[in-house]
Amino acid sequence: LRDEIGRMERLSLVGQMAASITHEIRNPMAVIRGFVQLMRERSPEEQQEYFRIVMDELDRANAIINDFLSLAQNRIIAKESCSLHDILNEIMPLLWADANLRGQSIELRLADRIPQLMLNEKEMKQLILNLARNGMEAMDQHGVLTIQTEAFQDYVELRVNDNGSGIPKEKLERLFEPFFTTKTRGTGLGLPLCLSIIERHGGRIHVESEECVGTTFIVRFDRSRNYNEAAAALSRA
Ligand code: ADP
Ligand code: MG
Repeated sequence: LRDEIGRMERLSLVGQMAASITHEIRNPMAVIRGFVQLMRERSPEEQQEYFRIVMDELDRANAIINDFLSLAQNRIIAKESCSLHDILNEIMPLLWADANLRGQSIELRLADRIPQLMLNEKEMKQLILNLARNGMEAMDQHGVLTIQTEAFQDYVELRVNDNGSGIPKEKLERLFEPFFTTKTRGTGLGLPLCLSIIERHGGRIHVESEECVGTTFIVRFDRSRNYNEAAAALSRA
C-alpha cells in the first residue's frame, strides 16, 4: 500500500509540474505570437523593437525548459570528495565577468582551511551561480556581492550576501516555490533548483534579509550528513 501511495503521489506531482510548465511556457508563446503578427505591418524601427522582444521571450522560454529539466532530474547523483574552494575558484572568472558588466564587484572571503566534502561538482557550480546571480540581480550599480566560506567542527558554511533590495517578509516564505518570481524575465526555478541540490548533498539553506539593506543566503553542509548515497547503499547491502 505504501508503494501504491508513493506511486500516486509521484504521478500527481508529475501532473502538477506538467500543468505549471505548460502554463509558464504559454506566456512567452502568446507574447511571441502577438509580436510576430504585428511585425508584418510595422515600420523597420518598430520591427527591430519587436524582434528584440521576440528573441527575449524565446530565451525566457528556453531558460524555463532548461531549469525545469534540471529540477525534474531528481536522480541519484555521483559525488566525489572535493574542495568547495576549488569549485569556487573555477567559477569566479564567470562571476567576475558578470559583475563587471553590471558595474558591481565581488568580494571573496575564503576560510583558511576547509575540509573536503562529498560533492557533485556540476550541481555545486549551478548552486553557487544561481545564488550569486540572484544577488547581483537584486543590486544596483556599485553593489557588492560577498561570497564567504567558513569551516566549523560539524559543518561547512557557504554565505552569499548582497547589499541589494532585500526581500519583503511576506515573500520570504514563497522563495522556494517553483515558478515564484518577481522579475519580468525570471523563471522562478532558480531557488527550487538550489534547494533540491542542497538536499541531495545533505545540506540546509537559510535566508536572512532586510528590505533596502540586503540579503544573505546561508548554506550549511553538515559533515555527518554529507555522504555519498551510492556508498551508503553499498554499506547497507
Ligand atoms: P528568478 O531569479 O528566476 O526570479 P529564483 O527562484 O532564483 O527565480 O528567485 C525567486 C525570487 O526570489 C526572485 O524573483 C526574487 O524575488 C527573490 N530573490 C531571490 N534571491 C534574492 C536576493 N538575493 N535578493 C532579493 N530577492 C531575491
Ligand atoms: Mg534566479
